Amino acid sequence: MFVDKATIEIKAGKGGNGAVAFHREKYVASGGPDGGDGGKGGNIVLVPDPNMSTLMDFRYKRKYVAKNGMDGSGKRCSGKDGDDLIIRVPVGTIVRDTKTGQVMADMSTGESFIAARGGNGGWGNAHFATPTRQAPRFAKPGLPGVEREITLELKLLADVGLVGFPNVGKSTLLSVVSKARPKIANYHFTTLFPNLGVCYVGEGQSFVMADIPGIIDGANEGAGLGHDFLRHIDRCRLLVHVVDVSGSEARDPIEDFNSINSELKLYSEELASRPMIVVGNKCDIADEESIRRFKGYVESQGYEFFAISAATHLGVSELTVHIAQRLSQLPPIITYEPDFVEETVDLNEEEPEITNDNGYWTVEGGWVEQVVNSTNFSDYESRMYFDKVLRNRGLFDKLEELGIKEKDTVNVCGMEFEYTR
Ligand code: GDP
Ligand code: MG
Repeated sequence: MFVDKATIEIKAGKGGNGAVAFHREKYVASGGPDGGDGGKGGNIVLVPDPNMSTLMDFRYKRKYVAKNGMDGSGKRCSGKDGDDLIIRVPVGTIVRDTKTGQVMADMSTGESFIAARGGNGGWGNAHFATPTRQAPRFAKPGLPGVEREITLELKLLADVGLVGFPNVGKSTLLSVVSKARPKIANYHFTTLFPNLGVCYVGEGQSFVMADIPGIIDGANEGAGLGHDFLRHIDRCRLLVHVVDVSGSEARDPIEDFNSINSELKLYSEELASRPMIVVGNKCDIADEESIRRFKGYVESQGYEFFAISAATHLGVSELTVHIAQRLSQLPPIITYEPDFVEETVDLNEEEPEITNDNGYWTVEGGWVEQVVNSTNFSDYESRMYFDKVLRNRGLFDKLEELGIKEKDTVNVCGMEFEYTR
């Protein structure tokens, strides 16, 4: 079975917690805080692997979880970072965020991609010592790793897409060009995709040709195999438009040519504007005059024209040599620009809970927790900012309202402060 799309769940590692610890030594009355930081959680990393050709593996394993960071400990020992989890994917895999469908990465470039970042480790209390707060009893917890669903999509990198009406000889041409070298008849795609062939022209000169079946049968509306298969030729660099010039089915080649072109446009303007070579097939049974008439029309439209007979192989090798030569001048297969934007965390609008136990105030949860988590308390500016946010959002007013007094202690999400207005 042909698998070219797979959705998997990935979860990066959580950061380790920071430690609360104090330096202890004989004859030293009370040492300073020396709790180390938690380690960073492992990332989920996608790595392109040229030896993979399908997404089959992902049918059996759908969940991928990276290692958590270890907690910090005393003596300023940092926790070990969690190992990254490497997931190998075929070259050319498009990675999408399943929820939004946005492209996160295109694994055609050979570079690996971090699909989910591990959470940072929490800071140990060693970070939080300040001149006025010599014995901080708090440390920060590690942050969770990113968790998401991603969809892997493998588009075969067909260089050449064959278009044309049914029965014009596309399949015949494909089989002829890819059978030309028995050596590559076993190419692993051929068994999976009967509509795909590899054409070997010479050393270092081969291309993948894909038939685009049913393009005229409402393929652009997603009918049947057509639409699904069109995805595979989305990236082809060159279109080969096959037309039956023999009139064997009592059709007019020029009319056929034009209607396929407009059908193509309906599916994708962009695809329709790819470079195109026109092939007049069944020349073995066509009369000279109709070939000449069609050639004239096509060339007047600015296309190159080749007269062939797929059945008798007439002109086929000239065609493939020409295709290879054209391809060598065309830009490489199109890659997709990522359009994924990391989701910004929704601002938590919930009010924190405030309790007062005899002058010891506790503020917990809601937006305050979010602010605490994003503040770096060992950095002065960051602390000032923290103070400002709490003030601006009315926390201090609220505490005043509830009767807080100067020098009362306020515990904000586990961090203790002395209250001064
Ligand atoms: P497709 O629908 O475009 O894939 O067309 P096929 O490759 O299946 O061919 C349709 C019919 O045309 C088959 O019966 C072929 O044998 C025949 N055919 C294909 N190429 C030629 C050719 O060059 N000359 C003649 N006389 N018949 C051909
Ligand atoms: Mg066919």
